[in-house]
Amino acid sequence: MAKSAIVVGGGLAGIATAAALTDGGYRVTLIERREFLGGRATSFRERQSGQLLDNCQHVLLGCCMELLGLYRRLGVEDRVEFFDTIHFADERGRRGDLYACRLPSPFHLAPAMLAFGLLTIAQKGEIARGMAAMKVLGKGGRDAYADWTFREWLGEKGQSDETIERFWEVILVSALNERVDAIGANYGMQVFQEAFLGEWGGYRMALPRVPLAELYERAAAEEVLFNRRVTGLVVDQQHGGPRVKGVELADGSRMEADQVVLAAAPDSARRILGESPLFEPICRAIGQLRYAPIIGAHLFYDRPVMDEPHLALMGTTLQWLFRKDAKGTHIHGVISAAHELAEVDARSLQDRFEREIVTILPRAAGARVERCAIVKEKRATYCPAPGIDRIRPEQRTGIEGLTLAGDYTRTDWPATMEGAVRSGNRAAKVILEGGSTTHRG
Ligand SMILES: Cc1cc2nc3c(=O)[nH]c(=O)nc-3n(C[C@H](O)[C@H](O)[C@H](O)COP(=O)(O)OP(=O)(O)OC[C@H]3O[C@@H](n4cnc5c(N)ncnc54)[C@H](O)[C@@H]3O)c2cc1C
Repeated sequence: MAKSAIVVGGGLAGIATAAALTDGGYRVTLIERREFLGGRATSFRERQSGQLLDNCQHVLLGCCMELLGLYRRLGVEDRVEFFDTIHFADERGRRGDLYACRLPSPFHLAPAMLAFGLLTIAQKGEIARGMAAMKVLGKGGRDAYADWTFREWLGEKGQSDETIERFWEVILVSALNERVDAIGANYGMQVFQEAFLGEWGGYRMALPRVPLAELYERAAAEEVLFNRRVTGLVVDQQHGGPRVKGVELADGSRMEADQVVLAAAPDSARRILGESPLFEPICRAIGQLRYAPIIGAHLFYDRPVMDEPHLALMGTTLQWLFRKDAKGTHIHGVISAAHELAEVDARSLQDRFEREIVTILPRAAGARVERCAIVKEKRATYCPAPGIDRIRPEQRTGIEGLTLAGDYTRTDWPATMEGAVRSGNRAAKVILEGGSTTHRG
């Protein structure tokens, strides 16, 4: 009879684990406490309109290979649209585009950078020197700077404050949800090495064509349980050491399986693990993570205001604008690392965003916002701080029957959809290769 696994949490880490274990011959039960899969990358139904909206626009890049592999596995790769050109705008409403030419990487973006009107020649010179230094360092070289902040590294490479603010920070704050002075230099470099200096198509940006929740309709598992909350783990102490053999649910019931994968977000994982000394090292690691907020705003205008499919913004509070419908009436704005705005009330945020949008999209000046939905994710992602990889727990726990998955576990990738999928694939590999302890039971 096929072995069984319970995967707790239907975010991307859990979905990826479930798919890989199913493909490996396991009978998988995926348990999700909400009514949709996708976790932090999902949708909600707006009360006013009944419309399915994303909690926040999620962007992926051509270098997100395992995420794209998961979409193919789920048969939804055609629900994602790639863009060859990344459109930028600044606080004065000026435009600039980044696109590749036929030259091989890492020279493919150079002509567009030279023509890019939103940076000065001196800034472009600094950026070219920074990129060249990263290219020379490679992956091995960047890991030597894991205890530096990215700002320290940029400073050492002669990058001025203005170039940091107008270029490096613009890219990184949305990629890593944190400022350059709080990001580990290795993770800062990774973004540029993978997206701009690696494979030719690594920089290409993709957006889902459908609400995020519709990407996960074909989740691969024998059974998917929605609206079921796991409250604890069932531990068997009797057979020569502890073994996790199942989960307890909020309704008081228990479910058992050969393997349990805990794929909840770090805070929830800590609650599920509880006070047992057995799980103390994992809980201690999770307790050291720090988080940053992201704010997403859906604005519905009474007429079309936006032409471009997206705009990365420079010099503004909003960092991205996305056109969410063909007409350009539904606009979604995003602010990452929104520490200063996380406690500001929704009405004040809306006023501020509307004023700023007019400077970028002049047609918004004569338009009226009919409704607005603001989503604050106060603990959106953990910060990839210097030295973070000494804290992040591995998928292999050393406890029989228990494996971890989640963007916060160790994957060499930061808190992203790609990081979550990688963690799920690694968790499944641990199990398929014999289990979460070094000795095989
Ligand atoms: C606002 C925002 C914007 C982002 N933008 C991007 C982006 O543009 N690009 C990008 O790559 N990444 C982005 N990210 C990061 C990305 O969403 C996450 O890194 C990734 O989705 C995390 O996946 P996960 O499976 O590890 O965790 P989660 O998505 O948190 O999944 C955990 C799941 O476990 C469930 N769960 C928790 N407790 C229990 C329980 N007790 N019982 C049962 N189920 C439980 C949760 O409901 C959830 O579905 C963004 C994140 C946020 C919040």
